[in-house]
Amino acid sequence: MVTHDPYEEAKKQLRQAIELLGLGEEVYEILAYPERLLQVRIPVKMDDGSVKVFIGWRSQHNSALGPYKGGVRYHPNTDAHEVIALSMWMTWKNSLAGLPYGGGKGGIRVDPHKLSKNELMRLSKAYFEAISDLVGVDQDIPAPDVYTDPQVMSWFFDAYAKVKRGQYFGVVTGKPLDLGGMQTRIIATGFGTAVAAREAAKKLWGGLEGKTVAVQGYGNAGYYAAKYLAEWGAKVIAVSDSRGGIIVPDGLDPDEVKKVKNETGSVINYAKATKKITNEELLELDVDILVPAAIENVITEANADKIKAKLIAEAANGPTTPDAEVILTQKGIIVVPDILANAGGVIMSHIEWVNNRMGGWITEEEAKARLEQKMANNFLRVWDYWQNKLDTSKYNMRAAAYAIAVDRVVRAMKLRGWI
Ligand code: NAD
Repeated sequence: MVTHDPYEEAKKQLRQAIELLGLGEEVYEILAYPERLLQVRIPVKMDDGSVKVFIGWRSQHNSALGPYKGGVRYHPNTDAHEVIALSMWMTWKNSLAGLPYGGGKGGIRVDPHKLSKNELMRLSKAYFEAISDLVGVDQDIPAPDVYTDPQVMSWFFDAYAKVKRGQYFGVVTGKPLDLGGMQTRIIATGFGTAVAAREAAKKLWGGLEGKTVAVQGYGNAGYYAAKYLAEWGAKVIAVSDSRGGIIVPDGLDPDEVKKVKNETGSVINYAKATKKITNEELLELDVDILVPAAIENVITEANADKIKAKLIAEAANGPTTPDAEVILTQKGIIVVPDILANAGGVIMSHIEWVNNRMGGWITEEEAKARLEQKMANNFLRVWDYWQNKLDTSKYNMRAAAYAIAVDRVVRAMKLRGWI
C-alpha cells in the first residue's frame, strides 16, 4: 500500500498554485514552510500516580492575513508533518473564505479514549500552558479538531486565563454556550458542506431534488451534511463509520441512523439497511454525490478510476490525493475541494470570535443565515473563477480555489513588504 505524507501532498498543491499564478520561487520558499513550529513535551501525572510524557505541536503557517487560526487534534498517529500540512490548509481555507486570519494547527500524539477525564484535563491544560506565549486573541486562536471538543476548549480557555490573569474568551473558538460559544458551531461544518454541494448541484442539474448521496464517516461533519442534503431533497442512500457502511436504496433518515449510531456505536446496526458494505465499496457506489467526511487520503490513485459519483464534496480534510485528482479530473468528476467545502466550521468560529470581542452581538438565527450566505457566495466565487479564468479541461475546482486563496495571501505579503 502506498503511504501518503500529507505535508508532501500539501507542498505539491502549493507548487501547482504557484505555477498557475506565475509566482516566483521566493513565494514557494515562504509558503512551503510554517513561519514557526513549536514542539512541546508534556509530562502528565496519571491517576495511578505514574507520569506519562506526551508530545505535541503548534504549527503557525502564515500570518500575512491576520492571527493564525486552526484546530488542535488529539490522535495517536499525529506527527509534525501532519500538523504542518493541516496548518497550511488552514491558511488557504481562511484566505479563500475572506476571513482576517492566517493559518495554524496543533496536535498532541495521544489516544484520548485511553485517558480518564481528569487525565485529559491535565494534559489539555498543560499543553495550552506550554504554548501560551504563542497564542492569543490577536496572535493565534485554536479550535476543536479530531477528538477535541467544547470541553477541551473550556480547559484551554481556563489554562490561558490562569497564565495571563484575564478572561480572554476570544482566545479559542468552539467553546460551549456557557463560555461564549454558539450553538450553530455544532452544525457548521456539515451544514456548510451541504450548502456547497447544493450550490454545485444547482449548476450541474438545476438542484438537489432526487439526487443520490453516499457519505463516508458519520461523525459531526458527515451527519450534518447528510441531514441537510436530505432536508433539501437529496436521497442519502449510503453512510459509513469506522466499523463499515450500509445501503438503503430508497433513502435513509439521517436522524434515525444517528440515533442507532448513538445507541449501538455504529451505523451498521440500522435495521432498514438492505446491505452492509465496506468503506472502500461505499466510495465506489454509483451515486450522484459522494461526501468523504472521515479521514485523509481515502481517494487515491488505487481507487480513483472506480469512483462513479459525478460530484464529490470534501467534508474531510485532504480525502483526495493529488495523483487521484488527476484521474478524477480526466473523468470529468467535479470535486468541491476541502478548503471550500468544509470551511463552515472556521467561518462560524470567526462569528463566535467577533461575538466574544463585541460582548455578545449576534443571534443563532443571524449566525446561521450569515454562514449559509458566505458558503454559497464562496462557492460561486470559486466556480466563476474556474469557469471564466481557467481552462476547465485542464484545471479543476481545487486549482481555482488555490489560485484565489494563494493570491490573497501573496497580496497581503506584498502589502506588508515581505516580498
Ligand atoms: P468525528 O470524530 O465527529 O467523526 C468522524 C467519523 O468518521 C466517525 O463516524 C468515525 O467512525 C468515522 N471514521 C473514522 N475512521 C474511519 C475510516 N477509516 N473509514 C470510515 N469512517 C471512519 O470527526 P469530524 O469532526 O466529523 O471530522 C471528520 C473530518 O472532517 C475530518 O477530516 C476533519 O478534519 C474534517 N473537518 C471537521 C470539521 C469540524 O468542524 N468538525 C471542520 C473541518 C474539517
